[in-house]
Amino acid sequence: MENKLRNLYTLQNIDSNLDELEEMKGDLPAEIDVLEAKAGELKAHKAALEETMRNAFAMRDGADSEIISLKEKVERYKSQQYKVRNNREYDALTKEMDNATDTIARLEKEMDQLEGKATNARNDIEEAAGQIDELTKVLEEKHAALAEVSKATEAEEQKYRHERQKLIVRIPKADLATYERIRRAKRGKAIVSVKRGACGGCYNRVPPQKILELRQNNRLYMCEHCGRILVSDEIVESASSGA
Ligand SMILES: [Zn+2]
Repeated sequence: MENKLRNLYTLQNIDSNLDELEEMKGDLPAEIDVLEAKAGELKAHKAALEETMRNAFAMRDGADSEIISLKEKVERYKSQQYKVRNNREYDALTKEMDNATDTIARLEKEMDQLEGKATNARNDIEEAAGQIDELTKVLEEKHAALAEVSKATEAEEQKYRHERQKLIVRIPKADLATYERIRRAKRGKAIVSVKRGACGGCYNRVPPQKILELRQNNRLYMCEHCGRILVSDEIVESASSGA
């Protein structure tokens, strides 16, 4: 019986190690997915800002050249006013000049707004570029870590799987089924040791009489509270020493 309990406890250790390896791998790909999605969003945001900046600068330049040609027109009207033959022509030129001056004022205001819009976009682009750089660095680190974990876990995983295969043939099918059932229900730990008079799984008190019986190692004892299989210190020690 001691062998049976020890085998089950050893199986639990192997499975816990495999769970840990799985967890190590499990987190990184999910983290990388989230970061890559974020980087993609930032890149799209940056591209949109660049488009906004380009358009604003182009429109500002357009307004600028329109102003230049309007100013030239105004100068032309001014010199034409000296040569007019009547008031009607003079007034017509004055009206043209007023219109051009109004348009220049409007365009100058627009230029300021476009300049502001483009400058804001340029600042936002710099900020997004900084964030993208940071994310890229983090992603590189995560990718490297995942590659390392995968490389490291591959060998370890194989070792544990091999140990597991050798071990389970020595465990009765019914016990194995009980173990697997508790493991599923308890998300990992099916077998726990008694620590300072308490169940190592749920930390509820184990009656002293039960601890005495448990030390006999002559049958499977379940915790009354959580249903996990309890083992004595001797089992834990002999399993960890590999005896
Ligand atoms: Zn318990």
